[in-house]
Amino acid sequence: MTKIIIVISFLFFLTGCSGNKNSEQSPTPIIQKDQPINCPPKFVWDEDSKSCIKNCEEGKVYNPIFKECVSCQGDLVYEKDSKSCICPGKSKKAGEHNCSCEEIGGIFDPELADCKCAYDKIFNEELKQCIPICDSSKGFFYSDEAGGCIKKCPNGNDGFYYDIKVGDCIKRCTPGFKYDKQEKNCIADCKGNSYLNKLNKRECIKGKQLMCNSIAYSILPSFNTITEESERAAICLYIGPSNDNDEKEELRIIDAIKKAVKLWIEPLKNLSQVFISDIEVFKGSPYCENYNRNFISIDIVNNIGCGTTAAGCAYPSQRMLQIKPKEALSIYIHEFGHLFGFDDHYYVEKPSLGCFEGYDSSTTVMCMDDIFLKVADKEAMSKLYCHYYPQDMSCVNISPY
Ligand SMILES: [Zn+2]
Repeated sequence: MTKIIIVISFLFFLTGCSGNKNSEQSPTPIIQKDQPINCPPKFVWDEDSKSCIKNCEEGKVYNPIFKECVSCQGDLVYEKDSKSCICPGKSKKAGEHNCSCEEIGGIFDPELADCKCAYDKIFNEELKQCIPICDSSKGFFYSDEAGGCIKKCPNGNDGFYYDIKVGDCIKRCTPGFKYDKQEKNCIADCKGNSYLNKLNKRECIKGKQLMCNSIAYSILPSFNTITEESERAAICLYIGPSNDNDEKEELRIIDAIKKAVKLWIEPLKNLSQVFISDIEVFKGSPYCENYNRNFISIDIVNNIGCGTTAAGCAYPSQRMLQIKPKEALSIYIHEFGHLFGFDDHYYVEKPSLGCFEGYDSSTTVMCMDDIFLKVADKEAMSKLYCHYYPQDMSCVNISPY
């Protein structure tokens, strides 16, 4: 058994403190490193291989094995728009293989100049298909219906069947229930911010919602891509004097900021308004001030305003975070939670008491930091969304803050 030790970082939430800024920071913009490089003449950038490849004339495609432009092989046809070889009548982009091979579930063998089944498959004359070779010594046989090797389950009369994806005999559950391996039975499939009733395992108990403290200062509206550019959020990153020469650490911090923002925005991606998920990061406070943007300032400093034991502090009314150097991504996620408007869910004065009643490490990152959002966090972002955009059809079933 693995013992998991969770360390609570002492994260505090304060307002009204002033930052510790050094105005002599040099004005350096941060250049995104994922831009394609310039290719030499007669070469073009290829997104798939992330390299420069030969720019083929019309009717030919680049073959990465031969590193040459070739005509379409077999029964593949050239498609002008995608500049690729495709199977006729299919939108799927095909590589070196033959379309008729795809139809039998096989692969094209250039040496044979014909189709063959992959090493773990055998050709079935009756089905005219390549089917997996099943281990009959262990009771497996091929099932056309299941599309793979299955076996008879000893408790088949109790509704058990062999599931290829699970790789075991499991029970077929009614909608709203899922099979639990340990229980060897169907249990309630609890979705969203709800939890299994551990006593009967047949019902879900609704979880408590995340509490807000500074919703009035939430950074969410400034993440909406339809806002004026001057109102749109961007990050102004200030790295304290003792840390400003470590380029690797600087890139790690920028990565942590971008990941934290992306995580919080993620639950909103299927709603009607569109939000910035890849936040722009500018370095150095004097440089930021030359731009007309609704900046969120992040100070990486040892000397933070909310106590020596804290890893970071959030100042929502000032759209500001202070985070100690070398702090992990989970700290950034928690502190951004404060800027979106959410409160701490643990006893700040006495962290040893743990989370508030009804919350735990599986509920919210506002109690215990983690690198993923938890159920109440995701629900909270939808509720926050509906607070700002109640007219959205999706908000019919969501009660806003
Ligand atoms: Zn906090």
